[in-house]
Amino acid sequence: MPELPDLEVIRQVLAPKLTGQTIVDVEVVRPLVVRDLTHQGFAETLTGQTFADVLRRGKILLFPLESGLTLAINCKLAGRLQYALPDERRLTKTQVVLCLSNGRQLRYGDRKSMGQVYLTDSLAAIPGWTEMGPEPLDITLEGFVEQLGRHRGEIKGVLTRGKAVAGIGNAYADEICFAARLYPFRKRTSLSDEEITRLYEAMQSVLLDAIATLRERVGNEIHREVRDLLVVHNKSGQPCPVCGGVISTVKAQNRATDFCRTCQPGGLIRG
Ligand SMILES: [Zn+2]
Repeated sequence: MPELPDLEVIRQVLAPKLTGQTIVDVEVVRPLVVRDLTHQGFAETLTGQTFADVLRRGKILLFPLESGLTLAINCKLAGRLQYALPDERRLTKTQVVLCLSNGRQLRYGDRKSMGQVYLTDSLAAIPGWTEMGPEPLDITLEGFVEQLGRHRGEIKGVLTRGKAVAGIGNAYADEICFAARLYPFRKRTSLSDEEITRLYEAMQSVLLDAIATLRERVGNEIHREVRDLLVVHNKSGQPCPVCGGVISTVKAQNRATDFCRTCQPGGLIRG
């Protein structure tokens, strides 16, 4: 699942390539993911539009168009973007293809067809938009403390739910909890001021470091999901890079949480 660092790198790569390009043709291969909130016809409305910029908010990529409309993509579990020449092989389950005036194509592929490709004149019309918390890389420590104060539950859940901060998913939440040396199932209300500061600093450094590393590793191959930079996520049974202990996994609510019981002590042993 693409998260803030993955999407931020895609944004950085695409912004200079797309800005000023016009969409000359639209192919909707699988209409399931398309949400035309303009009700004017997705392909018809999009054809002839020019990209004004590429932005990101939380886990949503935004492609504002010069007309004032916005194309917004929520990749959800398995969505991928591909910037390619027409004869380059398409991703599995390519859903939407935009042909650009520079001869390239912007494609959206989604193995699970669970993502959404919106066309809208109002961002607030995108489901979940108004509930999204602030950007974790824009928020101050004071702002973070305030946001946490509004959300209860286990810290991993608070980080991933998108309401306290936006854009963090299962993988980067594991990395942030590890970097903060906090047990992911600790109740938010049990955190001391010093622990909240550690969580905030870990969130900043993990996300910023990941963006810098991905930027180098992904290059222009934005459809590639690079995950081997992660330290604990998906490393179940492997040695902890800090203490050498074994990375543990707890499965709950259809997702796995990976952490080190030595570096991130606390709570009951679950799972
Ligand atoms: Zn450890």
